[in-house]
Amino acid sequence: MRSDYITVTQVSGINGPGDDSFMKKTFSIKTLGCKLNQYESALIARQLAECGWEARPFGEAVDVVIINTCTVTDRSDKKCRNYIRQGARFSRLGGAVVTGCMVERDRDGTAGMKEALAVFGNGEKRSMARMITSLMELSGPRYKDSGADGSAEAPAIKADGPFGDDEFDESAVAPLYRTRAYLRVQDGCDGACSYCVVPSVRGAPRSRPLARVLEHARRLIDAGCPELVLTGITIGRYESGGADLAALVEAIAALDGDFRVRVTSVEPTHVTDRLIGLLGLPGVCRHIHLPLQSGSDRVLKAMNRPYTAGRYMDIVERIRERDRDIAIGTDIIVGFPGEGDDDFAATLDMVGRAGFAYVHQFAFSPRTGAPASSITPCAGRATIERGERLRRLAMETGLEYRRRFEGAELWCVIERSDGRADMAISDNYIRIRLSGVQADDAREAQIARVRLVRAGHDANIGEMARQATL
Ligand code: SF4
Repeated sequence: MRSDYITVTQVSGINGPGDDSFMKKTFSIKTLGCKLNQYESALIARQLAECGWEARPFGEAVDVVIINTCTVTDRSDKKCRNYIRQGARFSRLGGAVVTGCMVERDRDGTAGMKEALAVFGNGEKRSMARMITSLMELSGPRYKDSGADGSAEAPAIKADGPFGDDEFDESAVAPLYRTRAYLRVQDGCDGACSYCVVPSVRGAPRSRPLARVLEHARRLIDAGCPELVLTGITIGRYESGGADLAALVEAIAALDGDFRVRVTSVEPTHVTDRLIGLLGLPGVCRHIHLPLQSGSDRVLKAMNRPYTAGRYMDIVERIRERDRDIAIGTDIIVGFPGEGDDDFAATLDMVGRAGFAYVHQFAFSPRTGAPASSITPCAGRATIERGERLRRLAMETGLEYRRRFEGAELWCVIERSDGRADMAISDNYIRIRLSGVQADDAREAQIARVRLVRAGHDANIGEMARQATL
């Protein structure tokens, strides 16, 4: 275990005062993983901007390169290490600043990489900009290869975190996208899924105080954001002063303004009737993402998921009773160790019966340290074949779901794609390419009624119906 946390030594290599590149400090961030990681990268970028730094695309030569890592699988670790090596080449300091879940899972291993300049845990993200700025101002040097003891290892910088919510006013963070802003409401998880280490790198569930979330939502609405996307690790565990997720959604939807709130991913066992009752009400999108992972009770047990296929289907039916137009999306892991043909057939059957609007599918990939990584994995060939069959079925159920809205007018937010404001996102999560004469009148972040003309596998085509308010 390393003892020294900050070592700053003078070396040559960085130009002194009076040189432009010294004055204009530049940085780039590469983010891997979930919405929360993306949100936190926006936080860091905003902080650095406030400290006078300039953001540049990843790949350009800059002073500091930040890699915000993800560690859900061994494969994502490998990807992160590659980006750290790449990032070190783009940084004038000859190394990358690394943060995120891989640091949480293996701080010493990450700090031990010669390309890692400094490492920050998740709880230290809020103080990263200040730490990096003071280091740059303090040292300004390239301290990589002249460490006092000559060792190549990066100093494992440890900010005396973790910092609570109050440390940094998140609500000042500019929305990532002009149209749909991530709104962090929660962090952490106390689940025990056998393939997952997120609880050990994100910690126990903790919620942002309701008042702070509403303040942040207010600022985003006032900034012209038409859609707020609730973000966290297990947002269904939200709890603040007795307010649960449903109460939070209700409170946000009650705010004045032209906007809507999207619930996103909720663990099936966290779904309440009250939450189901809110979906589709004014200001709340008809969309929920319910990770299933497998349709087989035997595999769900091996995954240590806290529900059976039957219980999951009950939740789907309760949502369908509420409104059969609600888009239900899901996650499915294919090729979980021990998954047999019957298990997979049960998954396909579930997908057919649930009528998912979309399926995010993942081939099982071991995560060292998670119980499932010690079980013999499925044969690669079987996993590929099953993945292909699931992909085809999911495309059919998705198309069937979208076809039900052909000719209908849908509430949409207009987004920019390929430089044109011609992509409309409906509240029930259908992406529609705008065509027709009025398409040119569409503006980014506009809220509009869009008629879905044709649903297709490659693209859904629609036309502007008329200007609308939510
Ligand atoms: S609910 Fe399960 S899969 Fe999701 S973060 Fe928690 S442990 Fe991981």
